[in-house]
Amino acid sequence: MDQADTVRTPASWVVVGLDNGGTCNNATVLDATGQFLVSHLVENPSRVLDGPESAVEQLAAAFTGILELTSTPHSLVRAVGLDTPGPASAHGVISSKGATNFNQVSWHGFDIRGALEARLGLPVIYNNDANAAALYAHHRHFGTAALEKSSVSAIVGTGLGGGVVENGKVIRGAAGMAGELGHVQIPLHGVLEDGQPVPVCNCGFEGDVESIASLTGIKKNLLPYWLTRFPDHPLAAEPVDKAAKMLRGFGEKDDPLAVAVFSQQARAIGKLFTIAANFTDPDAYFLGGGVVEAAPHFRQWFLNTVRESTQLRDEQAHAATFALVPDLDMAGARGAAVAALDAVAGGSR
Ligand SMILES: [Zn+2]
Repeated sequence: MDQADTVRTPASWVVVGLDNGGTCNNATVLDATGQFLVSHLVENPSRVLDGPESAVEQLAAAFTGILELTSTPHSLVRAVGLDTPGPASAHGVISSKGATNFNQVSWHGFDIRGALEARLGLPVIYNNDANAAALYAHHRHFGTAALEKSSVSAIVGTGLGGGVVENGKVIRGAAGMAGELGHVQIPLHGVLEDGQPVPVCNCGFEGDVESIASLTGIKKNLLPYWLTRFPDHPLAAEPVDKAAKMLRGFGEKDDPLAVAVFSQQARAIGKLFTIAANFTDPDAYFLGGGVVEAAPHFRQWFLNTVRESTQLRDEQAHAATFALVPDLDMAGARGAAVAALDAVAGGSR
């Protein structure tokens, strides 16, 4: 609200960013000069469980609501950025097999980008949520130098989302599947304990990053193993779903089991970043997800462990930065808006 009365010239224009999640949409407005007109989280229910029609209406409501909140005339909006959880195509068609948030049959193969574009009558630019967060982290970190810089982001959540940004733009790939860093298989030496079973991912791969560095990885792989090493741990008495979610609280209190689990996650991400160092040699490595919301000493320890586990050459170590993704609850909507702004600005060059 504090920025709502920013003075705008009549010639200025804006884009809207809409972040679609399992329970809520989050909306923002970004003006042509790169200023966000919303400084806090603005949410409405996403109703994705009611099917695509309701969900598109809720996104349209989020769009109207954020324009009202910022006193922005509809006529100033040039484009809308949209992000959703994956998997979806580069153009916002939900996977034909469905997805965690979109598991009803009516969602399978649904073109959410096209549907919102038709509903709003404005161009809609799509990114998956991890790519949007990666894009925001990149632009926020590098500011005016963003278009000359590269970065790799790992976002630890239910799964492990990623984003590869080169010269300020998300790398999409031929099939829209670039940056699926969770499913990169990593060397497990230095990550797993002797005798620890090789973790398996929901995608079918063994020993990929997500099988270790995600909430699902904790639940399916890491916690069941570590509870055999700490049989008297209080989490052994909890259902595994609940125990997995409680683990971060234990980590913040330096509980040995939790430290062992999160240390494995950090080392797995370090192995991933080592691969990235030899692939795109980025200017920055960003880390986001639940861990960013943890207590400061804990998230700093986690980031340091990732950094120590990333093997860089001396030249790279001097050139590269490691940082946490800021404003994570708004990163999706803001990244979606950055992509829309870039699409409009690029088109008018
Ligand atoms: Zn996988």
